[in-house]
Amino acid sequence: MNYSIALVPGDGIGPDVVAQAVEVLDAVADKYGHVFNYVELEAGGCAIDSTGEPLPAETLEAAKQCDAVLLGAVGGPKWETLPGHLRPERALLGLRAGLGVYANLRPAALLPQLRDACPIKDEVLRASNPNGEATFDLLIVRELTGGLYFGERGRSADGNSAFDTETYSKEEIERVLRSGYRAAAVRRKKLCVVDKANVLESSRLWREVAAVVSKDYPDIETTYMYVDNCAMQLVRAPGQFDVIVTSNLFGDILSDEASVLTGSIGMLASASLGDSSAASANAASSGKAAAKQVTMGLYEPIHGSAPDIAGQDIANPLATILSAAMLLRYSFGLEKEAQAIEKAVSDTLDAGYRTRDIASRKGAANEKIVGTKEMGKAVLTALEHQK
Ligand code: NAD
Repeated sequence: MNYSIALVPGDGIGPDVVAQAVEVLDAVADKYGHVFNYVELEAGGCAIDSTGEPLPAETLEAAKQCDAVLLGAVGGPKWETLPGHLRPERALLGLRAGLGVYANLRPAALLPQLRDACPIKDEVLRASNPNGEATFDLLIVRELTGGLYFGERGRSADGNSAFDTETYSKEEIERVLRSGYRAAAVRRKKLCVVDKANVLESSRLWREVAAVVSKDYPDIETTYMYVDNCAMQLVRAPGQFDVIVTSNLFGDILSDEASVLTGSIGMLASASLGDSSAASANAASSGKAAAKQVTMGLYEPIHGSAPDIAGQDIANPLATILSAAMLLRYSFGLEKEAQAIEKAVSDTLDAGYRTRDIASRKGAANEKIVGTKEMGKAVLTALEHQK
């Protein structure tokens, strides 16, 4: 089957990690008889340099024409002094809103091979895990196209004060909650709404909507937690969580926190999805659905452009490679192929390959510290060796 994938490598380490993910996608295409056609697009700082805009209209238009989008990261010190509306990060907001991807799925699980890279003690992990194992497996569902990042903002005339606004409609809350419930239904059937309802009116609306929506999912346990407590509980007892659903700002912060528990931010993939039925309808009207079912999604590692390590061939490409696996699963329905990538990553870690960020603090016996490209090659080798 033929699929088109928009590649938005972006800035800093973005191009390095996306290049490794593309090699892995190509190997999967060869192995399983698919064709992935790539359309490389500019967004972020590189687009500012070449066009003056973080998200040129042609980039968004071309991305919409593809079946899915794989993004590296945008931003860097070079563009930090630009006014807010011209900064590279505006490209992310524009792509997410333009593609209508409002639910950002950020899985965070501790892989057994990376136990040493997790800063939490075994006994702490065990205490909160219902099966008593020193691990955790949670999913943060972050609302992605509303809230503080999209609300009205500005400065007073004298420049001495500034404001940002958190606004959510019932519809925005309901649709992301339903994404969370769908995810919880195929996991451990627990959903925790994380907010700041003791202070914020918008959070109180989240709770009201959740109280109604939860009635449609009687077999899923719904709980509520304030975000400050959740920040603490994530390091105190991460095993208590299954699915966390939260706002744009809180999800951004909590998922970076969760990434540390998995060993490194270089391990965490993400999928941003919209209303799949609407996406399928769009595809059908453009003739795409005649031969295949695709659901538009935006896939990216949760880390940024890491300017401190850019151009040094030391960035961990696994988050982006795992994002490519999510792309195959959620946008193309290629579950077998997605699992093949995930297994190849696991086998690569089993073989001892580590980028610097996930190296064992104690220096494990079979550990091989490698760079970005070598890690990508190791995943390709593991993929080739699969039966
Ligand atoms: P960052 O995620 O880029 O880096 C935080 C730390 O994690 C750094 O020490 C970095 O070296 C390390 N790190 C990140 N990814 C890594 C990887 N794959 N392998 C190994 N180590 C890795 O966050 P930051 O420093 O706050 O932001 C840098 C720039 O990225 C800023 O311009 C920011 O706005 C932008 N940013 C972009 C995105 C995005 O494109 N989605 C997300 C977050 C930040």
